[in-house]
Amino acid sequence: MSTRPVIPRAGRRPHAVRAPAGPGRASLPVVMEPPAPAFRLACRQLHPETSVVTAGGVAIGSGRLIVIAGPCSVESRRQIRETARRVRAAGADMLRGGAYKPRTSPYEFQGLGPKALEWLAEASAESGLPIVTEALSVEEVERVAECADLVQVGARNMQNYALLRKLSTISKPVLLKRGASATIQEWLLAAEYLLAGGNSNVVLCERGIRTFETATRNTLDLAGVALVKELSHLPVIVDPSHGTGLRSLVGPASRAALAVGADGLLIEVHPHPDRAWSDAAQSLDVPSFAALMCDLRRREAAR
Ligand code: PEP
Ligand code: MN
Repeated sequence: MSTRPVIPRAGRRPHAVRAPAGPGRASLPVVMEPPAPAFRLACRQLHPETSVVTAGGVAIGSGRLIVIAGPCSVESRRQIRETARRVRAAGADMLRGGAYKPRTSPYEFQGLGPKALEWLAEASAESGLPIVTEALSVEEVERVAECADLVQVGARNMQNYALLRKLSTISKPVLLKRGASATIQEWLLAAEYLLAGGNSNVVLCERGIRTFETATRNTLDLAGVALVKELSHLPVIVDPSHGTGLRSLVGPASRAALAVGADGLLIEVHPHPDRAWSDAAQSLDVPSFAALMCDLRRREAAR
């Protein structure tokens, strides 16, 4: 019997499986099997092999650490083209940049929308890096999915079930960020919406959760990453930028993510971080990102 942790369905006890009847077997004990978790398509119990999700030719979950890098927001054609060229040279595998931004305040920069998608497509064509960008609403999904190789669902939208249902019907893979107050069970059930609707290409992203601690922007749940790797066959990446909110902690948190078995990292990088229109305090400059990449690849090779 499996010794993996199992999150049982509320109110259900393990299935009782009666030993097969037959001569001399009447007194055999009843065998207890753990029930399949509620996230039956996402669970590892019924799907033991780790899934590999391929986005724009990049395989996530194959054993090699995948690094997705770029600015929080696409701010100009020049900014995203320069970032793409430089993070590519530093060894990034994919380019991220927000065209539609979920901001806590309606007075903050909301993203440049369709124009940013055009610039992302151009930066991708020039650099050869596949694109990760976020869709905020059902209405945006088709337009975003045309440009993106991996469509991001942000933390604030993890339980936007209309959006998840729509994304379950597209042909592009989805990066599902954990909600800031979501339990692991809720996160995996959100993934289940995508899988149940027919999109089997789902990557999970731990980006920190809300706790009593305010010294960091969020509390990066790295034990949760290790647990989700046990509970689910889906690849799991870590966002140390939103997970900490502080650029000095992005390197240590990235190394820790690699150590707990993350399949990849999503790191905010900006050519001039202090001038970034969003998330300046947590964005790395390109030389710091390049140094971190060297360190991560060296650690990976030594495993
Ligand atoms: C982002 O990726 O820039 C972002 C807004 O992330 P999150 O949804 O994790 O807050
Ligand atoms: Mn951001």
